[in-house]
Amino acid sequence: MQTHKYDTVIVGAGGAGMRAAIEATKRSRTAVLTKLYPTRSHTGAAQGGMAAALANVEEDNWEWHTFDTVKGGDYLVDQDAAEILAKEAIDSVLDLEKMGLPFNRTPEGTIDQRRFGGHTRNHGEAAVRRSCYAADRTGHMILQTLYQNCVKEGVEFYNEFYVLDLLLNEVDGVKKAAGVVALELATGELHVFRAKAIVFASGGTGKFYKVSSNAHTLTGDGQAAAFRRGLPLEDMEFFQFHPTGIWKMGILLTEGARGEGGILRNKDGERFMERYAPTIKDLAPRDMVSRSIYTEIREGRGCGPDADHVYLDLTHLPPEQLDAKLPDITEFARTYLGIEPYTDPIPIQPTAHYAMGGIPTNVKGEVLINNTDIVPGLYAAGEVACVSVHGANRLGTNSLLDINVFGRRAGIAAAEYAATADFVELPEAPEKFVADEVTRMRDASGGESVAAIRRELQETMDRNAMVFRTEQTLKQAREDIVELRARYKNVSVQDKGRRFNTDLLEALELGNLLELAEVLVVSALARKESRGGHYREDFPDRDDVNFMRHTMAYREVDPEGNESIRLDYKPVVQTRYQPMERKY
Ligand SMILES: Cc1cc2nc3c(=O)[nH]c(=O)nc-3n(C[C@H](O)[C@H](O)[C@H](O)COP(=O)(O)OP(=O)(O)OC[C@H]3O[C@@H](n4cnc5c(N)ncnc54)[C@H](O)[C@@H]3O)c2cc1C
Repeated sequence: MQTHKYDTVIVGAGGAGMRAAIEATKRSRTAVLTKLYPTRSHTGAAQGGMAAALANVEEDNWEWHTFDTVKGGDYLVDQDAAEILAKEAIDSVLDLEKMGLPFNRTPEGTIDQRRFGGHTRNHGEAAVRRSCYAADRTGHMILQTLYQNCVKEGVEFYNEFYVLDLLLNEVDGVKKAAGVVALELATGELHVFRAKAIVFASGGTGKFYKVSSNAHTLTGDGQAAAFRRGLPLEDMEFFQFHPTGIWKMGILLTEGARGEGGILRNKDGERFMERYAPTIKDLAPRDMVSRSIYTEIREGRGCGPDADHVYLDLTHLPPEQLDAKLPDITEFARTYLGIEPYTDPIPIQPTAHYAMGGIPTNVKGEVLINNTDIVPGLYAAGEVACVSVHGANRLGTNSLLDINVFGRRAGIAAAEYAATADFVELPEAPEKFVADEVTRMRDASGGESVAAIRRELQETMDRNAMVFRTEQTLKQAREDIVELRARYKNVSVQDKGRRFNTDLLEALELGNLLELAEVLVVSALARKESRGGHYREDFPDRDDVNFMRHTMAYREVDPEGNESIRLDYKPVVQTRYQPMERKY
């Protein structure tokens, strides 16, 4: 085992991790550990854009953006954080422009902007053009731009290093960050990284669903590591289903397609969103559009022989506009469905997309250990974190914004902390937990298969914990997950080697998914109301009296070693806006 020492260690090289690294490297000796080569991070798959009230093409301001974010999140958003997000959005976009990002331009040469769901003028009057974009490759451009700037700043990367554990240690009765344990893919060797400050920027956890827009690598490793070390996870029941995934495959077709004028239609050709959101129609927030699509399907107005999807219609848009603004997603339709989007509507269905919940932080990115106290030296930003700027439902284009605003903040705060803090002693045998897990899985033979457990997990999550939920379906999901977790204890991997053992890593990732799926379901069972992305058919209304609060889930272990999940709650920060009924 090798030990390394850095002032600041960042886990993850997606948008949040690299934005943090650019700041941290200027201020402290920094290393970035990433399981993927940086430019393969999921940020690179983001298509539609990044929100900022630049007002380049239409009247706009950050206050409207704040309001839309709060209302879009069904009032579960912490309003102080949303205000920072919307205010700092403007500099965030300009920073990326200065770093070299090739945004689409208006004829006058300023950054062009397009419409996206839930972004409106003057508190809901009409849709507004707020999303800054680079065709339908905005995330790719952000990731490349940030990577180039990391190279320029001399950021030190450890690529294909899987962080599998977080090390905390008590100093004078306070738990502080001490380091992380990582497995090097190329050698199978374990490494301990000691650091004064650690930033988790390890992304989302969408692979516990089958129909998902998320890359195979989004397995919630950071959330699970924190949870296992006794830290809470916030609002995990809120998972976003994006309305327009390619039918059956889940591959994303950006909301930018509707921002450019695309229309959702049922089997009768009807523009059904007019009935659900008369003002902004197809550009209603994602939770509402996904529910509307499934309502159409359930009521027999779905398309195809099984009436199990609806259409995204782009046929009325000029081919030149599709080629210039949506080149990738129109190509996806040709490649994956054999459909020509110039002339034919595209079959779509909602797809698991984004974790609103995660590791709770304050607006500096400091990780909370309970409702009020932080873990000194520990930070989180991006999809792994919950600030909470997205509340119960994230607005499109607010995540690329989140990773830039809060990635930057976490990078600065971590490096400034590292400048004055001391290293915390490592706990005894720091690598033990990971080493034991690895040995157990490699040495076992003839045990349960990773692929089978993962498939069953995804099936029960798709069936029981998706857009519509009830007590019964959630209980079923929980029962299935408990059984799968028991089987997981006997999992064995085929590849017994050390080098490039992806078999072993998939087994470890599956452990994380199982743990987090259970947190999601337990949190969802307890939330007996419907809010944003969490819709309970048995409790169809929002209940502000009992549930205007964040869920905080903790892992508890009794003296016999039995695990359970304890739920607590945290107040929502409300500053300007009183909760109202959410109509569009
Ligand atoms: C298809 C798609 C399209 C999207 N389009 C948009 C959009 O147009 N606008 C928008 O605002 N949002 C969009 N989103 C959401 C947005 O892209 C993501 O939420 C955001 O990019 C997440 O960034 P991140 O830096 O937090 O994580 P990621 O970009 O996912 O990066 C995670 C990083 O963590 C590393 N990592 C993970 N686990 C480990 C581990 N155990 N050890 C070491 N490293 C680890 C990975 O290697 C990676 O570098 C889209 C998402 C998807 C899936």
